[in-house]
Amino acid sequence: MMSYETRLLTSSEEDIEYAAGLIRQGELVGMPTETVYGLAADAENPVAVKKIFEAKGRPQDNPLIVHLADISQIEEYVRDVPDIAYKLAENFCPGPLTMVLPKRDRIPDITSAGLDTVGIRIPGHKTARVLIKASGKAIAAPSANLSGSPSPTAAEHVMKDMEGRIPAVIDGGSCPVGVESTVISFEDGRIRLLRPGFVSAEELSEFAEVITDRHITEAASEGEQVRSPGMKYKHYSPKANVTIIEGSEKEYLKYVNSRGGEGVFAMPFDSTAADCKIPGISYGDTSEEQAARLFAVLREFDEIGARQVYAQCPSSDGVGLAVYNRLLRAAGFEIIKVQKE
Ligand code: AMP
Ligand code: MG
Repeated sequence: MMSYETRLLTSSEEDIEYAAGLIRQGELVGMPTETVYGLAADAENPVAVKKIFEAKGRPQDNPLIVHLADISQIEEYVRDVPDIAYKLAENFCPGPLTMVLPKRDRIPDITSAGLDTVGIRIPGHKTARVLIKASGKAIAAPSANLSGSPSPTAAEHVMKDMEGRIPAVIDGGSCPVGVESTVISFEDGRIRLLRPGFVSAEELSEFAEVITDRHITEAASEGEQVRSPGMKYKHYSPKANVTIIEGSEKEYLKYVNSRGGEGVFAMPFDSTAADCKIPGISYGDTSEEQAARLFAVLREFDEIGARQVYAQCPSSDGVGLAVYNRLLRAAGFEIIKVQKE
């Protein structure tokens, strides 16, 4: 792999033009979006896309999402777009929604990881859309972290993982949503939820019946077929062992307060933190706050050398399902249900 002096860019017109030039030359750029930072490359250039897999250490069978600047471009890249997809696009795009659709041949196999479908998204973040437009390309972009580590929600997270591996990162501040996009596919007029995100199953169900894929909350067993390759991988993991504690606030406190020790930390809601007797980092109260802070908090646990983290179980309603899904994977599906007395 090539080694770079990674430049930290701003969202000025001049810097974005420079970044767009890098994309056109087949190079990678760290790109802010409203969900998490992406590692952007020309989606139709297999040599550029290969660099994404190398820089991240990403398994070759994990497909990339293709980002467009405008809804009107969708049919240039995918075909057989059902009416429901247009209805959803009108309501949620630009925004944190990815729709998996049959790909056209111009999308190379390396981008779709050999699948005949591709995930399409129009990011809600202005800088991302300006960069896409300026590059004149469709942009393949997974999260800009090393494969397996928590997704980056700030430019410094991207620098931590990608410094020396890519030529530039655009600093667009912290990502307001904080978890990756909602991923859906279509099945006979129904919507299949493949990855929960800020656009919730409840919101989608106003447009069509939503099938929530089992592997959102259940681990796939070895060799089991999954509908979305990302479901196979343990993701978002800090170095510490993360355990989710499910139960009331009182039961959570009772559990963690009797388990202090070197390298042991609590990860409670903000409103629970004051009653925690062991050190910890809280991650918000509402599902939206928790989504926005989750990955940064997981990274902070690495910074402080945590060995064991006990997380208070988030709600799994609405945006909460996205938080729960990411935390479950960070915990390698380790969840302890604390019993009522
Ligand atoms: P990331 O790029 O890290 O946000 O991950 C993208 C995820 O979206 C992948 O891991 C897949 O689970 C899902 N995905 C992308 N494209 C497809 C597709 N064509 N079919 C099913 N799932 C997809
Ligand atoms: Mg990712």
